[in-house]
Amino acid sequence: MSGLSFCNPRDKRLNPNSRIQNPPMTLQTLGLSPELLNYLRSVSLREPTELQCLRESSASHPQSNMQIAPEQGQFMALLLQLMGAKKALEVGVFMGYSGLAIALALPQDGTLVACENNEEYGAIALQHWQHAGVAHKIQLRLAPALETLDQLLQDGQGGSFDFAFIDADKRHYEAYVERSLQLLRPGGLMAIDNTLWSGRVADPEVQDNRTQHIRSLNQKLYASDRIHLSVVPIGDGLTLAIKR
Ligand code: CA
Repeated sequence: MSGLSFCNPRDKRLNPNSRIQNPPMTLQTLGLSPELLNYLRSVSLREPTELQCLRESSASHPQSNMQIAPEQGQFMALLLQLMGAKKALEVGVFMGYSGLAIALALPQDGTLVACENNEEYGAIALQHWQHAGVAHKIQLRLAPALETLDQLLQDGQGGSFDFAFIDADKRHYEAYVERSLQLLRPGGLMAIDNTLWSGRVADPEVQDNRTQHIRSLNQKLYASDRIHLSVVPIGDGLTLAIKR
């Protein structure tokens, strides 16, 4: 046996964040060209008809680009199935696509508490959920999400949720994450959307408030020993955090 040398894990010079210069392709994450994204979808996307209907009927809305990508909805549904999740939380419903993806992945007696502050969006989402036959699983809370999350904690629901999806105003992201972490059970999973923010988080010239909120949250999550962490480059960046 020769050729193998072992480093000392306690070596202070080891740094996982030493800047990577020209790594081989297999050590990079692929940027997806439109052609490769279409191919990925052609061999993986199994979007349920209920979700297809929602996406098509909301496509003309001027802000329909705020919906998550269909492959992201499928990925989150797979995680929910993997966990056997029964009780989920969503912060930021918009027109109900992600909520529908979550509700479809929950068992018949599962529950999704869905927080939305915009009455117009809440009403649209509710119609889609009813049409898709999952409204019985969803409790829509039309109020500022922080009020709803605080109420859930006051009601003694801390530590009871299996899953939380956060996709709302970036100004309050840290507060949503903190409360959601309290609402999750140990081993519960939090998914936080837009954490790569179209790449703006990595551009030092971008200093607007929303970008800074996301950068700050990303740093805090990275430093936190309350979670197991992975940042997944799907959609606009999805941070996954398991509560320890
Ligand atoms: Ca989003």
